[in-house]
Amino acid sequence: MLKVTKFGGSSMADAGQYEKVRDIVTADPERRVVVVSAAGKRFSKDHKITDLLYLCHAHIQYGVPCDPIYETITSRYIEIREKLGIQMDLESEFAELKSRLDAKQVSKDEMASRGEYFSAKLMAAFLGFDFVDASQWVYFTIDGKVDTEKTYAALKEKAKNCKGIVIPGFYGVMPDGSIRTFSRGGSDITGSLAAAALDADVYENWTDVSGILMADPRIVENSRPIAEITYEELRELAYAGANVLHEDAIYPVREKNIPLNIRNTNAPEDPGTMICKDFDTEIDTNRIITGIAGKKNFSIITVFKRGLTKEVGILRRILLVMEKHNISVEFVPNGMDNVSLAIPTDKLSPHLYAILADIQQDIAPDNITVHDQIAVITAVGHQMVFRPGVSGKIFAALGEAGINIRMITQGPDELNIIFGVDNKDFDNAIRVLYNSFIK
Ligand code: ASP
Repeated sequence: MLKVTKFGGSSMADAGQYEKVRDIVTADPERRVVVVSAAGKRFSKDHKITDLLYLCHAHIQYGVPCDPIYETITSRYIEIREKLGIQMDLESEFAELKSRLDAKQVSKDEMASRGEYFSAKLMAAFLGFDFVDASQWVYFTIDGKVDTEKTYAALKEKAKNCKGIVIPGFYGVMPDGSIRTFSRGGSDITGSLAAAALDADVYENWTDVSGILMADPRIVENSRPIAEITYEELRELAYAGANVLHEDAIYPVREKNIPLNIRNTNAPEDPGTMICKDFDTEIDTNRIITGIAGKKNFSIITVFKRGLTKEVGILRRILLVMEKHNISVEFVPNGMDNVSLAIPTDKLSPHLYAILADIQQDIAPDNITVHDQIAVITAVGHQMVFRPGVSGKIFAALGEAGINIRMITQGPDELNIIFGVDNKDFDNAIRVLYNSFIK
């Protein structure tokens, strides 16, 4: 059995957190592969090391010295080393990096990657595991995609005969040997790639919450964690606005059907959330909705034309207008004589009047309306499939709370029910939904 573990920034924030990580790793001999993030925040006003690294790089680009910021970064790592009594010369690496940085020889990606690099070096020494640099196995192709075949083969080779390895997350290497990072939060992807490469039995993603919560805790106090969720549901929730894993972290493990377990470094006894392809547990009528998420600030353009649904090609023509303005439409609910397009307002507003003029000309509608300040909420749950009355219950609950529904749509796979409300009703709608479905 092999467990690939990934520890996020808050789990790597200081010496005390390193000790928690060590206790978690040594508690289970199957935890032989450890992927780490850069040091994150120790308290809410603290800085993430990655942010400071980007800041240093930006200073140098503008010809402004970054010494105090650089010093803040290096002292965080030196403090961890000292407190844990690790023997390691970090000073010469810090000095070498700084002189190349001052000479503008360090790319933005290389600079950002150093947070994970130093975290992994220290953690490897602390655990007595081997350090395996991500630049030696995470291979990008020239167009910035991961070459999974080459990547998996390289890690398999590197991990052979090791007692345990520690890998820095977030970056890899381009064909020309330069460092490239994933987008922010990308250490989740590195962990998933490592799990897939080594055919792990589970990918444990350790963070600072006891799993994915059913609703945003800033809106629903004491929101419960989700015990089990499918990869598909998770994608829907993330798309709907839930801030969970990096989106691209799901693909490598899903492809190999490796379960992903979100755990809490500060409460290691909690089971967290298990993410799998499917579960054969019994249908639980108290768990029809797996999670609720949403986003504010959509605009809805509604095009009215008598007999619209009967007119061949009309939807295509409307969508063609959006394509011409490079706008991606998130939801398209329709009625017999109308169709609505839900688009994030910040994307739509620069093009709105040109789009309305084009629709007027190409479609000759009876009327067009535009509503702003709309929030789109998604209730996700694979148990909703073919279960009558779920949407009825949702709309009854919202109606009783006096919340006006501005748009309704449901995916054909019945994995979700999506509805629009006014921005001002957003929090309340999520609370009402949570309280009527989650017991
Ligand atoms: N340290 C990087 C970030 O802050 C990557 C990660 O932690 O996953 O985005």
